[in-house]
Amino acid sequence: MSDCLFCKIAAGEIPSNKVYEDEICCAFHDIAPQAPTHFLVIPKKHIRSVSEITADNSGVISHIFQVIAKLVKEMGLESYRVVSNIGEQAGQSVFHLHFHVLSGRDMTWPPG
Ligand code: AMP
Repeated sequence: MSDCLFCKIAAGEIPSNKVYEDEICCAFHDIAPQAPTHFLVIPKKHIRSVSEITADNSGVISHIFQVIAKLVKEMGLESYRVVSNIGEQAGQSVFHLHFHVLSGRDMTWPPG
């Protein structure tokens, strides 16, 4: 999508601090980290949010979670949180599907 920030990051048109990239997804550090480790994993193809996951595109989700498992292992993270905000009330500010991976501090439940 031409006016989507994360499509531009995925395409390399806007710089980011990438930690991983393949043909399906990429991962990069959040610009406003909420924990000592905070990176985002996104599909390269534009999907607006979890609400748009279907049988046709769900393969990318299992791939993303395999990538998350690989990255946290490589980073030596044993405890971490994976979050996806869906819709403005839940805190979604970028309308391109992304999974936050947060680690390195005590976390509370329920989230605020
Ligand atoms: P959400 O609010 O759940 O939609 O998450 C969007 C996240 O994208 C926020 O945590 C922002 O800090 C992060 N973000 C926004 N712009 C950038 C950027 N240019 N590079 C990296 N992260 C960004």
